[in-house]
Amino acid sequence: MLNVPPQAFPAPGSQQRVSAGGRAKVPLKPGRSLMDWIRLTKSGKDLTGLKGRLIEVTEDELAKHNKKEDCWICIRGFVYNVTPYMEYHPGGEDELMKAAGTDGTDLFDQVHRWVNYESMLKECLVGRMAVKPIAAPKGMVPEKKGLGASVKDLTPSYDWFQTDSSITVVIYTKQKDMNAELVIVDCQDKRLRGEIIVGDHSYLVEVDLDHAVQEDVAVNIAEKVGKIEIILKKKDNVHWKMLGQPLESHNTFIKRTDRGLFYRKCKLVSKTEVTHDTKLFCLMLPKSTHLHVPTGQHVYLKKNIAGTEVVKPYTPVLPFLPLDFKEPFSHDGAHIYLMIKIYSCGLFTQALDHLQIGDYISVSNPEGNFKKSQVQTLEDLFLLAAGTGFTPMVKLLNFALTEVSCLRTVKLIFFNKTEDDILWRNQLEQLALKDERFEVQFILSQPTKDWVGKQGKISSSLLSEFVKISRKDSKVLICICGPTPFTEQGVQYLKDLGYSQEEIHAFTA
Ligand code: FAD
Ligand code: NAD
Repeated sequence: MLNVPPQAFPAPGSQQRVSAGGRAKVPLKPGRSLMDWIRLTKSGKDLTGLKGRLIEVTEDELAKHNKKEDCWICIRGFVYNVTPYMEYHPGGEDELMKAAGTDGTDLFDQVHRWVNYESMLKECLVGRMAVKPIAAPKGMVPEKKGLGASVKDLTPSYDWFQTDSSITVVIYTKQKDMNAELVIVDCQDKRLRGEIIVGDHSYLVEVDLDHAVQEDVAVNIAEKVGKIEIILKKKDNVHWKMLGQPLESHNTFIKRTDRGLFYRKCKLVSKTEVTHDTKLFCLMLPKSTHLHVPTGQHVYLKKNIAGTEVVKPYTPVLPFLPLDFKEPFSHDGAHIYLMIKIYSCGLFTQALDHLQIGDYISVSNPEGNFKKSQVQTLEDLFLLAAGTGFTPMVKLLNFALTEVSCLRTVKLIFFNKTEDDILWRNQLEQLALKDERFEVQFILSQPTKDWVGKQGKISSSLLSEFVKISRKDSKVLICICGPTPFTEQGVQYLKDLGYSQEEIHAFTA
């Protein structure tokens, strides 16, 4: 029996019941939430119709199961009977049907490759494809696609050497502009994993080390020449005959999106209140991890909830809003701060809220399509945030005010329901007093009668009132983040007001 109280879910008026366009969530029938799905998978019901047998599936056989009432989908060579899952799919039945009877790997990767389908759909597994699926197998060096040099020429390489007390793995990236955000290193239980991001590709060194090493790992990056050193301290001063046994994806250079997400366990070290329902979680990375989440990118948290691995994205923030913008905020590299709203009937946030100090949670590598270069030469930056859609704006604001020398104005237009919901209001107001380039405007959708400020939801008239460039021909970027309907409407209003696609960045999953 699951220890989860049944509840009306999704809650009336909640996001899961609100219709949204695009590939956004669709309203689910009552009793069709993720928690309900988890309950069904634990009920012992035969969800494949094969009474627990696993079979080999030919392409012809797969193609036959292409109807709503009989739908099989192949993901990375494994075939799932998703018929029982139809009504539970947050993206709706029609989205799922796009892959009915086919290899849905590419479609799945485009939309939500971070979703842990192996765990979610384990009871729906029919078997393996008899023939290799069409999608590119992981670990292959990609074909050259319009690149000047072949990908092979650009492929990083590695070497290693040792002293009595240390092992140094050297990675030659063949790239000039390496930095700490492009190097992700983990070393757990004798397993070394070093991932280097080169444009939209990822190079991986992954080995089972020959001998044990100490917990702390040092990473040196020679930015100009693109050389990276991973320095491990030997546990015993023995001579190593080899670095270790290569693992499956070792020494591969593939598209980033084809690399599976890697998780490491992080310790919750503090949890502080930001507002009545939002908390700042401080997670400590293991000593053996080197990970800096780039501005505008998010990570995934993974937690086992009632036997199913549930994954949700969160955007790291800073511990506070720095008020002195003379120097970039120096990141200690050891902690990740997440500002998370706890929903009273939220599956994941309730589980997060129940974490105790000292508990561990899995944190993924960063992802996201925002690039700092979008901001580097800006003159006017507008940030349209709603609720926790504020989170990607925190590092962005800090980066823009600190490192963008031509910046004239940064304006945050912050949409919330009530005054009590405004995140870091004091800090934002102090910053506006301190830095004349920065301005903040709060707009409430459900204010009390005492509120004398602006009210309403995102609209064309509000945007034309507040998004005004400082000079004709100013280089401008408008970033937007919040609930999906907010973001979609905002983008449309901005386009209607004449802003181009390049001048708008919408943060989405
Ligand atoms: P669910 O179980 O999915 O939903 C349960 C109930 O919670 C709903 O029925 C509803 O009552 C309520 N609920 C959930 N979402 C909303 C909503 N948007 N509006 C109103 N009610 C809602 N969240 C953060 O708090 N901080 C972040 O930094 C953050 N970063 C994100 C980054 C990305 C790229 C994306 C796509 C989302 C981000 N989110 C962030 C949202 C987060 O991933 C979860 O969706 C959120 O925490 C709710 O998860 P849950 O499982 O608790 O809720
Ligand atoms: P909320 O429910 O408290 O709403 C905040 C404000 O958003 C409202 O006052 C209103 O102005 C606006 N809003 C809400 N629903 C709207 C709608 N249907 N149409 C137009 N405007 C609407 O918001 P919340 O609970 O804090 O949710 C924040 C959202 O931001 C979540 O959906 C979360 O997934 C998303 N988010 C996304 C990212 C990302 O990077 N993609 C990062 C953080 C948060």
